[in-house]
Amino acid sequence: MGGTWVRVVLSDCQGLIVENVRERVDVNSSEAISLQIVRLVRFLCKKRGADIAELRGVGIASAGPLDMERGILVNPPNFPFDSIALTEPVREALGVPACLINDCAAAALGETTFGAAKGVENFVYITISTGIGGGAIVNGTLLLGKDGNGHEVGHFVIDYEGRLTCGCGRKGHWEAYCSGRNVPNYVRMRFDEIGLKIAMHSALYKGLQGDFSQLCAADLFNAARNGDKLSTMLVSEIGKLNAIGFANVTNAYDPSMITVGGTVALENIEAVLSPIWKYVSDYAINRVPEIKPTQLGENVGVYGAVAAALKYLP
Ligand SMILES: [Zn+2]
Repeated sequence: MGGTWVRVVLSDCQGLIVENVRERVDVNSSEAISLQIVRLVRFLCKKRGADIAELRGVGIASAGPLDMERGILVNPPNFPFDSIALTEPVREALGVPACLINDCAAAALGETTFGAAKGVENFVYITISTGIGGGAIVNGTLLLGKDGNGHEVGHFVIDYEGRLTCGCGRKGHWEAYCSGRNVPNYVRMRFDEIGLKIAMHSALYKGLQGDFSQLCAADLFNAARNGDKLSTMLVSEIGKLNAIGFANVTNAYDPSMITVGGTVALENIEAVLSPIWKYVSDYAINRVPEIKPTQLGENVGVYGAVAAALKYLP
């Protein structure tokens, strides 16, 4: 479950996804979300001709903050509710066990259960999407923290000057510069610094006719891909900031592999990953791990939900 979409899949225990469906999250009430999940599970079972009682369980992977033990989201920034109960209503309505896990922790589990990191003992998954998040497996153990909100890597400080303020209200956080939502803020800041006289000659400026209010991350990456010099420079700067983030992750968890997902990374693999490969060793004290895009694509989260159900449910 993300901020906009909820995806439900029916999978076997080997991670073979046999049915899937996607809807916009129903935000009419805090109860509506669990009811929606229940309805979509019933829909997929019916479509497949499967009996709900045959389900081993329901794994729910969601952006946090959450309380894994109680199966609730706590003050979720994506939704206008103080808390959202997920596992209990799903369990009651369907009569099968349910668990809740942070989406990036789930993705790490999905990658080590079904993906490229199968059997890798020290592994980190990083998403560069609307926000930036991570999930870490250290010595074969998925790190979760006291409530299941471990490794908010998107809020690692990468700029001590704190030129940009993060959505969380603090300054200098990785996500404030490099996530899909915040790349436009970085571009606007740099255009102010560079000055209109120079900036106005860039294809990015001309393409938007100087109106940066509607700028999105894809505009910058597309302009760089088409050879716009200023955009290429900014993409490289963002890449360097990402390299600092990846170095912090490498120093914190000492993984032998990092896979990268999220729309910003997966739609711009070369532009996002090349500067990370190039600069990460400038900042990492630990031996630099293999860093590559996830092969599970946008499914990495749902594979994680399936893996979580297999791991945490009886
Ligand atoms: Zn932050």
